[in-house]
Amino acid sequence: MYNAALINDPFGDPGAYVECKYRREAVLFDLGDLHLLPPRKLLKIDYIFVSHTHMDHFIGFDHLLRLCLGRDKHLHLFGPPGFLQHLEHKLMAYTWNLVENYTNDFAVIATEVHPHAQTTKRYCCRTAFQPETLEECRAFDGILVETRFFTVQGVFLDHLIPCLAFRFEERQRFNILKTVLKEMDLPTGAWLMTLKEHLVNGDDDETPVRIWSRDPLGNVGETWLPLGALKQAVKVSPGLRIGYVTDAIHSRKNRAAILELADHADLLFIETTFLQDHAETAARKYHLTARQAGTLARQAHVKRMVPFHFSPKYKIAPHVLAEEAMTAFRGHPA
Ligand SMILES: [Zn+2]
Repeated sequence: MYNAALINDPFGDPGAYVECKYRREAVLFDLGDLHLLPPRKLLKIDYIFVSHTHMDHFIGFDHLLRLCLGRDKHLHLFGPPGFLQHLEHKLMAYTWNLVENYTNDFAVIATEVHPHAQTTKRYCCRTAFQPETLEECRAFDGILVETRFFTVQGVFLDHLIPCLAFRFEERQRFNILKTVLKEMDLPTGAWLMTLKEHLVNGDDDETPVRIWSRDPLGNVGETWLPLGALKQAVKVSPGLRIGYVTDAIHSRKNRAAILELADHADLLFIETTFLQDHAETAARKYHLTARQAGTLARQAHVKRMVPFHFSPKYKIAPHVLAEEAMTAFRGHPA
């Protein structure tokens, strides 16, 4: 149900856009340069997870803010320690004296995450983005967001500063088995959406489900069956799992955190900033090398790896980082 892709080319600002194929819903990992995303895609975003506020991961905020002003929209942002202060500085950088009469009150709801606690504030356009505290020091157990359709977890990595890595997990998928439906002599149609809603909600087996269809003359025929009886026509499969890992030194603690976060992910976006030949530079700058990233992806049993956050020093040989990462990922000596 979701598509996920990097926003920019791997030498550009880091960031991944995860979009639902059927609903107006998208999630963003990191807030670097967003100009390649058209407004219609940006306006689908409800949740943004910022790894840290180095410029290349946060400069896109103004672009998005400008687009959202005057719209009936709430943006939920999450970031590491110090995040609210950085966000407030961005919001306070502008003059907001003509906003109180806007018809729609655009709001930013931001959560600053610490290893054991999180604080959430709201900033509404009509009140010139003055902070209102919604929750202070709520316990943080790794889960940042839990919706009806997905969860997002965060873990801390060491980038000399605390930096968040994320795991997006779609809830179970429900696919209708049309052949079974036919054997049961049941029609296809809009009622299947209601059936899926019941399954997503985890309703009990006795729940009556209305099965209806319209004949060519427009007459509606209906019957009712309990949810439990319809389950044989539904195939349940695990949802998509996506990891987003960037800006981390190759330390023992970071490795353990990345392996746990990326475990059996369908897709892992992972930084591959330097070649292994430049491992000392990578360590000094608190980044991973391509070989380190590829090896971690393999050890975590990831299905597909997307390397990104390439250092500009490799622009003269643009494929070397991806090649080194893929070689390590496939388990061949680099
Ligand atoms: Zn970075």
